[in-house]
Amino acid sequence: MVLGIISKNYKGFIILVEKFSQLNLSKEFLSNLDSLNYLKPTAIQQKSLPLSLDNNDLIAQAKTGSGKTVAFCIPLINKLDIKNFRVQSLIIAPTRELANQIAQELRKLSRHVHNMKVLTLCGGMPFKPQVVSLSHQAHILVGTPGRILKHIQQNNIDLENINSLVLDEADKMLDMGFYDDIMEIISSLPTKRQTLLFSATFEKNIEKLASNVLKNPVLVKIEEEEKVYIKQKFYEVREDNKTALIPGIISSNKAKSILIFCNMKIKCDQLADDLYALGLDVLTLHSDLEQKQRDETIILFSNKSYPILIATDVASRGLHIDDVDLVINYDLSLDEKIHTHRIGRTARAGKGGLAVSLYTHSDLDRYDIIKDTFPDIIEEDVSKIEDDLSYKIDSPQRTIFINGGKKHKLRAGDILGALTAGIGLDKSDIGKIDILDFASYVAINKEKIAYVLDKLSKSKIKGKFYRIYEK
Ligand code: AMP
Repeated sequence: MVLGIISKNYKGFIILVEKFSQLNLSKEFLSNLDSLNYLKPTAIQQKSLPLSLDNNDLIAQAKTGSGKTVAFCIPLINKLDIKNFRVQSLIIAPTRELANQIAQELRKLSRHVHNMKVLTLCGGMPFKPQVVSLSHQAHILVGTPGRILKHIQQNNIDLENINSLVLDEADKMLDMGFYDDIMEIISSLPTKRQTLLFSATFEKNIEKLASNVLKNPVLVKIEEEEKVYIKQKFYEVREDNKTALIPGIISSNKAKSILIFCNMKIKCDQLADDLYALGLDVLTLHSDLEQKQRDETIILFSNKSYPILIATDVASRGLHIDDVDLVINYDLSLDEKIHTHRIGRTARAGKGGLAVSLYTHSDLDRYDIIKDTFPDIIEEDVSKIEDDLSYKIDSPQRTIFINGGKKHKLRAGDILGALTAGIGLDKSDIGKIDILDFASYVAINKEKIAYVLDKLSKSKIKGKFYRIYEK
């Protein structure tokens, strides 16, 4: 699809760079990219970076997993005037989780820049501390539309120096009804700025947004979509029989990391209770949970301490969870776009996956629409689901919690050192290490968890004792 608003006047060449070193970035920037193991730009980075670093407005078609965050963070960091301790870039994202992930990426990508300050402004977090942080200034703000707007309305943000704006997952923000908020935010920004709009889809509403906020944008899209095959099985079921089928669906597919979608929060909680009663370890993720619980849930699922996560759509937007091998649509999604988004969770990083959808007689209309979009759906009878009782749905790891994090200057290397050199644990028994501001989470081989709890609580990490317990 060609958007009418795309600049016909763009006179530059669209250059493809195959190496980061072909870009006009400092030696320090390049060596930081190298140290992050970003050895080669991804397709979207290859196409967008020459343009965005040249200060063009862009509309980029890029999905989660394509390297889009790095694609828009590099030009922002590159053009920052670090000595000018004022807000120079604003990034708007649909969810808190995504905003936090962007802030994390910004911090990693700017390790070579001293004293760069990134601030997140997300809804659901206490407002006052954000006001205080804003009064101490920052270089880059990342946040969700409603909260950013509230700060702007209360004159908490010094907007004068903003010269870059990013709208990330613009399609999701519009789906979530943020159009007016976004337009109101933009109306208070300096007009002399670079705007980068990232969206997985280009529908009419994106065109409207783009034509209102971008100047002579260049369209960047990846011609050849990476084709990943997601096998889809559909089962017609009775509403009161759904839960009983879940263990069989998991065991017959020998799934290890399972994401189950429900349409409502209350259903997530009910299903979690029911599956727990059946002996399964589950986590839930929905918007009633506090931010801290949501962060922790994502950590515990993605570090493989729990095999099953039950989520609503809103809570799962924009999440980076790799290695999900089975998605179960416990409730059929409300439309085919949501369905596509859900099943896409099982095909991250170019791998194929499996999605199983349950539908009842009353879902038939929606099922027909989804079937039109995915003609290779496999329709099976529930009697074919055979619960393989020999299959144990369990996680190989457990998580230990440490009540110290970045603010205590703890780094992954310190924790790794305390576990290996300190208490003699083998590196192969240690999984993902997540370090937040005030806490850290470490995935440990579950056979070794008692040993680690005992030893680590009696030893120091980087010269200090911390409280350690199992999550
Ligand atoms: P995103 O599309 O922003 O969700 O990024 C997906 C993942 O790709 C993130 O974990 C990034 O850290 C990673 N990533 C981004 N750019 C590169 C690159 N050039 N090389 C390797 N990994 C990358």
